[in-house]
This record gives sequence, structure tokens and C-alpha cells, in this order.
Amino acid sequence: MNARAHSPVPAQHTASYYAASSLPQPDHPALTGEQVADVCVVGGGFSGLNTAIELAQRGFSVVLLEARKIGWGASGRNGGQLIRGVGHGLDQFANVIGNDGVRQMKLMGLEAVEIVRQRVERFQIDCDLTWGYCDLANKPGDLEGFAEDAAELRSLGYRHETRLLQANEMHSVVGSERYVGGLIDMGSGHLHPLNLALGEAMVAQQLGVRLFEQSAVTRIDYGPQVRVHTAQGTVRANTLVLGCNAYLNDLNPHLSGKVLAAGSYIIATEPLSAEQAHALLPQNMAVCDQRVALDYYRLSADRRLLFGGACHYSGRDPQDIGAYMRPKMLEVFPHLAGVKIDYQWGGMIGIGANRLPQIGRLAEQPNVYYAQAYSGHGLNATHLAGKLLGEAISGQQGGGFDLFAKVPHMTFPGGKHLRSPLLALGMLWHRLKERF
Ligand SMILES: Cc1cc2nc3c(=O)[nH]c(=O)nc-3n(C[C@H](O)[C@H](O)[C@H](O)COP(=O)(O)OP(=O)(O)OC[C@H]3O[C@@H](n4cnc5c(N)ncnc54)[C@H](O)[C@@H]3O)c2cc1C
Repeated sequence: MNARAHSPVPAQHTASYYAASSLPQPDHPALTGEQVADVCVVGGGFSGLNTAIELAQRGFSVVLLEARKIGWGASGRNGGQLIRGVGHGLDQFANVIGNDGVRQMKLMGLEAVEIVRQRVERFQIDCDLTWGYCDLANKPGDLEGFAEDAAELRSLGYRHETRLLQANEMHSVVGSERYVGGLIDMGSGHLHPLNLALGEAMVAQQLGVRLFEQSAVTRIDYGPQVRVHTAQGTVRANTLVLGCNAYLNDLNPHLSGKVLAAGSYIIATEPLSAEQAHALLPQNMAVCDQRVALDYYRLSADRRLLFGGACHYSGRDPQDIGAYMRPKMLEVFPHLAGVKIDYQWGGMIGIGANRLPQIGRLAEQPNVYYAQAYSGHGLNATHLAGKLLGEAISGQQGGGFDLFAKVPHMTFPGGKHLRSPLLALGMLWHRLKERF
């Protein structure tokens, strides 16, 4: 494990473990005056960065506008779990995209991880990428689901090792009594997400993408050429990409109405001894349980336990994230009671009603593309979205983009102010059902 010297938390990033252990990052200028480009990308997270990279690799001139810092949003704060698959229950879309379409989507969910792998390897991005992941079963029914997942992976020709674990084998993966089984997947893993985003920003810049930070888009004039306005500048472009996910807000109410922003929270312990870390996660895998408000956790490269979970639909963060998350960690690992929490933070997950990433273009403005609503499983899917948007904008027809774009997505009822409380009620119902 390579412990990294901790730099002071950059003022503009959320004060997370990631910000404190990030690689040196150049400040990119704020947009002033007018820029002209083939494509303007809004949002400096994985969606925006990867779309920009894919487009620049295809010869497009690209301007990317980020309201704060590259990686400021969910991309720089997440659990760092790189897990196979996109969406949830893809068979439900067979009536729209056919069985072949469903199979292609499932294959794309596997490809999505490979895109991250290739990007990290090809551009030598220093982001602590580590292979190994395990789904944790909370109840016997979960294990049946894992067996089906494993069979499906085999039928898709998945080339990585997967292995079902029974209750008595769980200690080989996690030092807790809570779980009745698991599914190991050596083709999924974990990484330092902010450093991946910063590395990708560097790649984008080297490919000629013009990156601007502190450049919140305030208004968009739509038309055959879009004009994108920030406080001090404008971008004129033939094509616009919106990659703001849960942070889109009022910039495009049509798209933000299809995404519910839900808070998820992470604590990072102080660095643990090699023995302590080994006792928690002997194979250094990332893990997730199967509950509606799931626990997800892993070790960092400097042996902290990064323990994440919860899903707050109320729109309000807990007052003290550490006090809120610590009991959840202690339910899993009671013996960590004496361990200090060094960092605590949260971010917004963008949830869609059917949990399929929303990748498409606006019907009434066909030169405006978007990718959003990864429903808490976006590390891989954002990279796939970037590739699909790159292909679609460069005119490639009949590919994966068309499949995603065909699936309709519901607008949440209740408008901007009511949709989160309504969902909070719905989720409470699901949690009660789970408990009793
Ligand atoms: C706490 C947490 C844990 C998570 N854990 C995992 C995990 O372990 N594995 C996993 O696969 N997924 C995880 N996710 C989900 C994953 O992080 C997201 O799906 C993914 O990062 C979304 O990337 P994005 O680029 O679409 O959005 P973001 O990274 O949120 O980026 C959107 C950007 O748009 C910018 N923006 C917004 N409005 C404007 C504007 N008007 N002008 C300019 N810029 C603007 C924002 O500043 C922001 O930087 C987690 C998310 C959270 C919050």
C-alpha cells in the first residue's frame, strides 16, 4: 500500500479524505470573453470529462465548463467502488429495446468497467486502482439472487473470476458476523475517484480540451448553434452536452425533473495498522450489502476504512455526518469503537425512476445531449456514457447510444419542492417492509 503525503484541503473541494489526499491539481481559469468550439460540455465530473476525452480523440474542438472545481461533484467524493453493470433489472426494458437490446446493455455494463481500466492503464493515472469486489448477502434470499447473477455473467462470457460464498466462508472477505453469504467478482474493484477525475482532466487537456473552472453556466440560448453563458463569458458551439447529474438544478428543468437528488455519506477512519485492516477486509475488496439504504465500504491505499451509506431523500444533510454514520459502521465492526474518524462528507446521488442511466438527446433540441441519473452506480456508467455520447455526436448510428436513448424516463411528480419528500415517504415504506 502506498501511503501518500496529505496536502492541505483545497478550499473549493468538499473537505473529504479524497481532497486531502489528492494529487497536485492545476487551477483552470474561469471563462472570460467568448470561446467558439464544436462542442460545449457542461459539468466537470466523470460524465463531462469522459465525453470531452472521447470527442477530442475524434477530432472535435471542445470547451468544458465546471461551476466549481474539476471533480467537485459526486465524481470526486464517491465510495470509489468500481462495480460491473449498469441499471437494475434490465429485463424490464425488453418491450422497448427487445431481448437483443437488453443483452447488449448487459454487455455494455461489463464494458463500462473495462473503459475505466483502459483509461487508467493507457494514461497511467495514479488512482490506487485495486481489483476485487464482493456483494454481501443480508438474508438467504440475496444469495439466490447472487447465484442468478453469477449464472448470467457466465452466459455473457464474463472473463473475470466470480465465486459464490456461503456464510461460513464470509470471514475470508469481511471480518463481520452480519452476512450470510457473498458473491466475489474479481473484475470489479475500487479506486481513488478524485484522483481519477483529476487524471482524466489532465488527459482531456493534453488532447486539446479547453477546461474552465469556477464557470457556472447561468443561461443557455438554444438553437442550431447554442450560446452558453457564464457570469463573465460565453461559449458558442454547434453541440451542447449536459453532464451535471444531481447538481443540474434549474439549468434545464426538463432534465432535472427526471432525477432525484439524494444525499449519501462517507466517513474515513484514521489509518489502521496492517493487522487491523486485514481483520476487516482480508482481501482488500470493496463490498456492498443488499439493503435499500445500503452500507458500502472498503480500505483506502493508506489503510483507512472508508465506510459509506444511507440515502437521504429529504434534501437535508445530517447535522453531524460523523455522528450519523459511526453507529452504522459499529453495527458492522463493533471493535472499531475506539477508532478515530478523520474525515466525514457527503454528496448527491442522482436517482432515476427506473434506475437506468439516462443517456440521450433532447427531442426539441437535437443538438443537445445529456447523461445523468446513474442511481449511485456511476463510476463505470459515466465512462460508458462518455463513449456513447462521443460516438453519437460524431454521427455513429445504431450503437449503444440509440438503445439507451429509446428508453423513456418518467418525470418525478411533485415538482422541485415536493419530489424529494414524496420519495422519502416511499423509501421509508420500503425500509419498513425490509425490516418486518
Ligand atoms: C457519496 C457518494 C458515494 C457514491 N459511491 C459510488 C460508488 O462507490 N460507486 C459508483 O459507481 N458510484 C458511486 N456514486 C455515484 C457516482 O459518484 C456518480 O454517479 C458519478 O460521479 C456522476 O458523475 P457526473 O459527472 O455525472 O456528476 P458529478 O460528478 O456530480 O458532476 C457534475 C458536475 O456538474 C457541475 N455543474 C452543475 N451545474 C453546473 C452549471 N450550471 N455550470 C457548470 N457546471 C455545473 C457540478 O459542479 C459538478 O462538478 C456515489 C455518489 C455519492 C454522492
